[in-house]
Amino acid sequence: YVKARGKNDFQLFTPQMQQEFHRKVMIEKQLQTALVNEEFELYYQPIMDLKTNEMIGMESLIRWNNKTLGQVPPDEFISIAEETGLIIPIGHWVLNTAIEQNAHWQKTTNQPIYVSINVSVRQLLDPTFLEKLKNTIETTSLHPSQIVLEITESIAMYAETTIEKIAELKKLGITLSMDDFGTGYSSLSYLTKYPLDSLKIDKSFAINMHRNDENKAIIQTIIAIAKEFNLKVIAEGVEEQETCHFLAEIGCDYAQGYHFSPPLPASEFQEKWL
Ligand code: C2E
Ligand code: MG
Ligand code: MG
Ligand code: MG
Repeated sequence: YVKARGKNDFQLFTPQMQQEFHRKVMIEKQLQTALVNEEFELYYQPIMDLKTNEMIGMESLIRWNNKTLGQVPPDEFISIAEETGLIIPIGHWVLNTAIEQNAHWQKTTNQPIYVSINVSVRQLLDPTFLEKLKNTIETTSLHPSQIVLEITESIAMYAETTIEKIAELKKLGITLSMDDFGTGYSSLSYLTKYPLDSLKIDKSFAINMHRNDENKAIIQTIIAIAKEFNLKVIAEGVEEQETCHFLAEIGCDYAQGYHFSPPLPASEFQEKWL
């Protein structure tokens, strides 16, 4: 992008681009030491059964608190972690922490409330991913069925490697969920290629759903697709009671959102939900 200011006078970056670039460089730099400085924390958000209104699982969501940058949202730093490869150690930390925490909670509460963990495609492509995951499962003795891995439609772009990887995860007994369903890849053929257990409807469709007929139609269509493929459906971004009613009526199985609870730090989650 070159912005013309007049004859022979070009500015390569607009001030806004410069600012964005600077911020990105800062994030990249601070990310390098974030793990050793213990700057990451996992928050947990309940996943509710719409029929019984009971919690059936929880999603782990990473938080980053850096002394220079403050709180940096995952939507901003995860893509940078993916570009730099730092997502491999960070993702490993997430898997370990989430599985250990869940194993601990299952022991102390005696309730099989599963943990759902976001995994980047970059992590799946890491040749040591499976081995590391197996180790964590062994040391925590959490039953693999209590671990849900949330993957995104982008895995279909790396079908050659990921189909096999996903099959192996499935063999371990792990549950698989397609996150942000409806926003990414344009072909649905991957639904026949990957042994998925559930679809998570992207939050953009459920937010304000009961006031938006188009979003309602999209959600109904996604539920129909899920039923066709024998998959469970989870709606994300459920902020209002009316949305809940409507989702239950049209056969959505599970829901997650501010209506029930925002993501919470482990101690607070334990206090309120366990
Ligand atoms: P996601 O996996 O789709 O997670 C759902 C996001 O929606 C979370 O944002 C959650 O805080 C937010 N959310 C939950 N309920 C509501 C609601 O009712 N209304 C609205 N407006 N938002 C709601 P968050 O925590 O900022 O995470 C953003 C994304 O960052 C996640 O989207 C996921 O793609 C990624 N992410 C988060 N943690 C991890 C992680 O440990 N590893 C990887 N690879 N990605 C992660
Ligand atoms: Mg997710
Ligand atoms: Mg999502
Ligand atoms: Mg996402």
